[in-house]
Amino acid sequence: MGLRGESREERLRAWRRRYTRWVMPDETRDQREGASPAARSEAPIRKTERIGDELRGTLPCISCSYELQGLSVAGNCPECGLAVRATILYRVDPHAEAFAPMPHRRLTANLFVVWMLGALVGVALAWAPRAADVVGLMGTRPDVGPLLKGPAIAIGISGLASIVLIRPVVGVRRAHIVMASIAVALYALLVFAVWKYMVEIEPANPSVLLRATSSAEQLHWRLMIEGLILLIILGLRPNARMLALRSLVLRTGRVDRQTMLAMAGALVVAMTGEVIQLFVVGSELISILGVVLVVVGSLFFTLGVASATVDCWRIRRAILTPSPSLRQLLGEPG
Ligand SMILES: [Zn+2]
Repeated sequence: MGLRGESREERLRAWRRRYTRWVMPDETRDQREGASPAARSEAPIRKTERIGDELRGTLPCISCSYELQGLSVAGNCPECGLAVRATILYRVDPHAEAFAPMPHRRLTANLFVVWMLGALVGVALAWAPRAADVVGLMGTRPDVGPLLKGPAIAIGISGLASIVLIRPVVGVRRAHIVMASIAVALYALLVFAVWKYMVEIEPANPSVLLRATSSAEQLHWRLMIEGLILLIILGLRPNARMLALRSLVLRTGRVDRQTMLAMAGALVVAMTGEVIQLFVVGSELISILGVVLVVVGSLFFTLGVASATVDCWRIRRAILTPSPSLRQLLGEPG
């Protein structure tokens, strides 16, 4: 960023001087800079200067959330006594200035959440027939008919919001733009397939929980739906991860997850179960195994969508209130 006629190196050098001034003890610094005795005698003056280094950017204390702006970097939080430097070490993102610019910050952040929240609502509603099965085991099976249009509608909303993932920041790789565009287009097929399955095929032959009664038609449609979701996840993942990198917490592994890969894995398990039921006819034991794989895969997929929704919420916060860089905290160098 060669702004204001200064070269990047000049700015960096000025910045490094400023940084070492408050991070390093005076003696070390003087040795390193090869300071003459005359320069060393200036040390007390520089010391005052260092203590005067105040936080110019906003920075809430990590322990009590007290706003530390305006305090000295050498001081302590007035509310809880924690050293200001502890908060700086935890909150400052050294890569904050390396992120590509985001043209529509607020819209991107919000649609990113709508994208996964829509998927979560859709997946949750898709469980309605199974929930009805469980209730039905104890008495009369409730009519979930009105809920069955829900999954397709919610997934449609998720699909519209996913458009934001085609080019979330400036400078996305062309290949990733193409992958995301294909994934967004596949959403149209997915909405159609989910509508067809939930509204027409599933009610015509309701499968009872843990009993292998799925028709070949049901298995075909489910395989298609799971395959489409898998392709959509893989297509959107590179750009979604690009946004996830903005969250210091997710990037540094304080909360480590590969949620989208876990979701893809759960789908593969479920699809294996469908294929087993489709092709292994005659052995009841193996076909029960198929059903179990479908149930387990579906459960883990649901959990995956739920935790991805939490991640998206975190990322939204990171986009809207990014972790500051050290320079943003202490003001411009020079
Ligand atoms: Zn505090």
